[in-house]
Amino acid sequence: MSAMRRLSPSSALVLFSGGQDSSIALVWALTRFERVETIAFDYGQRHQVELAARVAVRREIAQRFLSFAPRLGDDAVIDLSGLGAISETALTRQAEIVIGETGLPTTFVPGRNLVFLTMAAAYAYRRSAGVIVAGMCEADFSGYPDCRRAALDAQMQAIALGMEAEFSLETPLMHLTKAQSWFLAEELGGKDLVDLLIEHTHSCYLGDRATRFDWGYGCGLCPACELRANGWAGYVAARSRREIR
Ligand code: ZN
Repeated sequence: MSAMRRLSPSSALVLFSGGQDSSIALVWALTRFERVETIAFDYGQRHQVELAARVAVRREIAQRFLSFAPRLGDDAVIDLSGLGAISETALTRQAEIVIGETGLPTTFVPGRNLVFLTMAAAYAYRRSAGVIVAGMCEADFSGYPDCRRAALDAQMQAIALGMEAEFSLETPLMHLTKAQSWFLAEELGGKDLVDLLIEHTHSCYLGDRATRFDWGYGCGLCPACELRANGWAGYVAARSRREIR
């Protein structure tokens, strides 16, 4: 039997899309690990603008948070256009975003996160990174079954067996609501980080960067914007209640 691959427990790879959650996960990783690299997947998604947002988020973090800058390592964007080709969903073609007959929104790409996680582990293996960090959350996500911790744990087991490498998977946002994740951001980087996230992260499924709300840019109507707007409103309300006390 071959030996297990030795991986660095102080080196992390973050699945970083440029959205709100993965950006918070990135900063979380920067507070904990000596070296933090980022990876994203381009599968022909409609929100190409999200891939541009991630460049801006990395740049702003490096410029505004000097203690994080030396830890922020390389970035990779992996071409997964084949995934877009087999996924006939609203994210990869022009179709209305609605809740489909399975109870999942039409933005659901079957098995997308399973593919992402496997690709991330293959990349982390090459980079000797022992920790994979992802921003998935169960609490108020859109119901994607491959974001659930049980699905992720089963997959990490398969990866450990199949790659003979033991990765730890960290999902710091898993049990947070969107409002709570803003509090986590505030805890990690104060108002500066909250402002950075509002201005530079992107969530809108339609890729709208023209309309600015108090929670950031977006169409204001798609499920991603609705989730982000509600989370922000919850955060603002909880914050003002705290200040009154
Ligand atoms: Zn939107």
